[in-house]
Amino acid sequence: MSEPRTVTLSTTDHGDVTIPEPSWCAGHAGHIPDPLSDILHCGPPVVFSFRGLEITDACIVQSPFSTTEIPELCSSTPGVSVSVIARTLDPAGLYELAAAFDGYADRLRALADELTAILAGGGR
Ligand SMILES: [Zn+2]
Repeated sequence: MSEPRTVTLSTTDHGDVTIPEPSWCAGHAGHIPDPLSDILHCGPPVVFSFRGLEITDACIVQSPFSTTEIPELCSSTPGVSVSVIARTLDPAGLYELAAAFDGYADRLRALADELTAILAGGGR
């Protein structure tokens, strides 16, 4: 059985702390000391881009020592942070967002159809 993964991070209020490191955390390269309550685990980003333009990204996050529990902003419970809405969502919220993206994709296809008809018919 392997040892639980840990990471040692500098903090401005508790010195160096060694804490459990979730398996999904992408690590803490470039860590800058902050208060313990601001430590954030963050998974690898899932990026949505189009033609090289990054539109948004999302990643699993957790603030294990958060002193305030605001589920959509910071929480000791893992969630998924979505940059385009500046919110952290639970699974139900993520499914709701994905459904909204699906609906928007349908509206974009309808616009493409409408534009195709306009261009074909010279409808100005
Ligand atoms: Zn971490």
